[in-house]
Amino acid sequence: MRVTLLGTGSADGWPNPWCDCASCAWARKHEVRGQTAVLVDDALLLDCGPDVPRTAARLGVRLSGLRHLLISHAHPDHLGPESLMWRSWSSAAGRPLDVVGPPAALAVCREFLTRWEGADPAREGSALRFVPATAGGRSSGGGSPGDDPLRLGAGDAGYLVRPLAARHGSASIGPAVLYDVTAPDGGRLLYGCDTAAPLPAPTLAAVTGRAYDVVLLEENNGDRPGFGEHLDLASFAELVAELRRRGAVVDGTRVLAVHLSHRNPPGDELARRLALLGAQAPADGAVLDLAPRAPLVPVRSPAPAVQPQPATPLAPLAGFAAPAAPPTAPASTAQRPPHRVLITGGARSGKSAEAERRLLAEPAVVYVATSAPPDATDAEWSARIAAHRERRPAAWTTVETLDLVALLRSPGPPLLVDGVGLWVAALLDDPAELATRAGELVEAWRHTARRVVAVTDEVGSGVVPATADGRRFRDALGHLNAELAAASDEVWQVVTGTAIRLRPRATDP
Ligand SMILES: [Zn+2]
Ligand SMILES: [Zn+2]
Ligand SMILES: [Zn+2]
Repeated sequence: MRVTLLGTGSADGWPNPWCDCASCAWARKHEVRGQTAVLVDDALLLDCGPDVPRTAARLGVRLSGLRHLLISHAHPDHLGPESLMWRSWSSAAGRPLDVVGPPAALAVCREFLTRWEGADPAREGSALRFVPATAGGRSSGGGSPGDDPLRLGAGDAGYLVRPLAARHGSASIGPAVLYDVTAPDGGRLLYGCDTAAPLPAPTLAAVTGRAYDVVLLEENNGDRPGFGEHLDLASFAELVAELRRRGAVVDGTRVLAVHLSHRNPPGDELARRLALLGAQAPADGAVLDLAPRAPLVPVRSPAPAVQPQPATPLAPLAGFAAPAAPPTAPASTAQRPPHRVLITGGARSGKSAEAERRLLAEPAVVYVATSAPPDATDAEWSARIAAHRERRPAAWTTVETLDLVALLRSPGPPLLVDGVGLWVAALLDDPAELATRAGELVEAWRHTARRVVAVTDEVGSGVVPATADGRRFRDALGHLNAELAAASDEVWQVVTGTAIRLRPRATDP
């Protein structure tokens, strides 16, 4: 299966041509993204907004071999019916083309073509074959999700397509659909664009055990949720975690973020944030050549039925001279997340959020709160704890304990320890005990087999504490931070919400 990203941007593209925000400024300088569309094997196109045919031409991609056009919904960034008219003026005019989409999307095409070409394109003998797609199978047929897939194309060149329910749509365009596509060589792709989260239950059931080669998920909203029915960075991560729990995303799966807008942080920061989730945002024009796969035996359990084959690296399209080459980040199989990560920062710097976002796409996480509230009646403290808890996914379990050593020595899902400063504060009354336990903690940290991200406080940069207790706390935590950092695979500092890697440095191998 060959997957070409003809576009990876939002409706308005990134940069939005009218906009002078910092995110658009970065995109203008480095990487222009047009409306999202994905070409499979040069035969099947997922979505075709007005930008898309021109982008294909600029990338040197011909659409003459297209046999199947799958439209997710009738929002105008996914459906430019004029493309079908331009096609009718070309050498491809007489060749058959399946136009698959929700009924409202097909109606837009028919109305446009009837108006401008003078005849209903759905008439007998037309090159266009209109195939209504609603979630759950062909047309309005019932059945459980994933049953009765559409068969597009004949024999060895045929595609199996399952429309799945999205969380996106409106009264005027009806519900949008996502597409599960199986290519003739067995390659499997999920096109998750556009949708908000959580995905409808029948869709989650249908993707269970699919062990996709490629999962394309929209991530329109970045750090600014609330625009339309879309995913943001946090809900994108939580959806990836859900797909991992269900065996839809497995070790070899390429998880790609598309439909990207300027609501995202600038592209370099977005790439860093996505990499933490095992995802990437390749540029427009990126090509994935995926090795043929054995057919997947249908399974009902979350366990994948086949071992994913190693994914091939993203290769830039031949002859494609984009301002920035498509990313060639290693596949998730080659990318083991760092084992022990220490994140330091000042009060309200964003260090806890930075720690949490490293684990958001994990199927399960144990959140370790290192202290009970110092005073249960402290309303401010309680509110702060509640806010922290609110931010964490429902699938995370919370443990309140000072016994970090036991957790580090036991097997289990990744740990998020928040934080080391509270742990020191809780033991401060007994200096001898604190010294002993700090030594044990460093040893356990050094030898743990578990993946762990710990948050600590940066102390000593401000005024000297006025009390003896304060000075003792500063010294004990400062020493412990240095020892934990020395035994960490990565050390980060968060300053004013911006994460800076202290170790290993960017120039290190
Ligand atoms: Zn859209
Ligand atoms: Zn902007
Ligand atoms: Zn839409």
